[in-house]
Amino acid sequence: MAKRDYYDVLGVTRAASADEIKKSYRRLAMKYHPDKNPGDKSAEEKFKECAEAYEVLGNADKRKQYDQYGHDGLRGAGMHDWSRMHVDDISDMFSDIFGDFFGGGRRSRRSPNRPSRGYDLETTVELTLEEVANGTEKTIEFTREDTCSSCGGSGCAKGKSPSICSTCGGAGQVQRAGLGGFFQMVSTCPNCNGIGRIITDPCLKCRGKTTVAKKRTLTVKIPPGVHEGQGIRVAGEGEPGRNNGPRGDLYCYVRVKAHPFLMRDGNNLVCTVPISFTQAALGALIEVPALNGTRQLKVPAGTQYGNVFRIKGEGLPDIRTGRKGDELVRVAIEIPKRLSIEQEKLLRAFAETEDTHVMPESKGFFDKLKNHFGNV
Ligand SMILES: [Zn+2]
Ligand SMILES: [Zn+2]
Repeated sequence: MAKRDYYDVLGVTRAASADEIKKSYRRLAMKYHPDKNPGDKSAEEKFKECAEAYEVLGNADKRKQYDQYGHDGLRGAGMHDWSRMHVDDISDMFSDIFGDFFGGGRRSRRSPNRPSRGYDLETTVELTLEEVANGTEKTIEFTREDTCSSCGGSGCAKGKSPSICSTCGGAGQVQRAGLGGFFQMVSTCPNCNGIGRIITDPCLKCRGKTTVAKKRTLTVKIPPGVHEGQGIRVAGEGEPGRNNGPRGDLYCYVRVKAHPFLMRDGNNLVCTVPISFTQAALGALIEVPALNGTRQLKVPAGTQYGNVFRIKGEGLPDIRTGRKGDELVRVAIEIPKRLSIEQEKLLRAFAETEDTHVMPESKGFFDKLKNHFGNV
């Protein structure tokens, strides 16, 4: 599935300022938020698509990469795997943009200090058809947010610890009187974002963020038979969990490079091979491209345009059973565009002997013509 242009997704021009991008993202996210479109799967997809576009265009480094190299430029950029991300997590992630608009109540149920799993990341691996056939190992390099080594993830400068939030007294929630003072409304503390603590002396390395971007190199084993768009899960290689929760996973999505001769159809490989009209009429042994090298194929006399020949077991292995598909060779019959004088003479002599009534296609055609128009 082709990704849309991120500027189109957010409805901004390529010259848009950071502020315009943020405003546009906020507006669209509000519009498509699943809370406002219950049960609407396409709204949820749009909501996630906008989040992905904003992850890139809302970050100066990623935006620069994207402007220069398009989607390919982000392959190792530590993109979150939005397709697997929970809507609540997205709302939490951009709480600085949404404010308390979404999930305020929900977030108070989900204690911010509870251990939670880190976010999943995604990257792309590009494979040749040969690599799909045999399976392979790929070394991938990507950047991910990792626990800051200087503060160990506390976000505080050496020897300091967070102080209790003075607004909520550490509860993470504040109570406000509702309309007329008849009831109490509970919402997330705006000062500490529900965490209950405030970092007063931030770590110099991560500036209180608790994580820093780090490069990571990994070797990923790709099983034979993978399909375009399939995600290979590498457990525990995503972003670190919060409050000692487990790491998320990394998903490597497969992209298969085009082969000069072979097209994939499920586990079968399909190719079109040109043969001359004399080879088709007389039969011939022809050479056809296969995954590793070429194969000989016997084309029988009387081969018709578009006939398909099957070479057993020359396709791709099934990812589960390992059973191999076939290669399907479709022949395209070429008629010469120019004839030498000698050839033309021979063909005219041949035409004299030609009897369209022994050729089933022609016979059927002329019979039909006669039935339709009467004798012509
Ligand atoms: Zn730090
Ligand atoms: Zn607070």
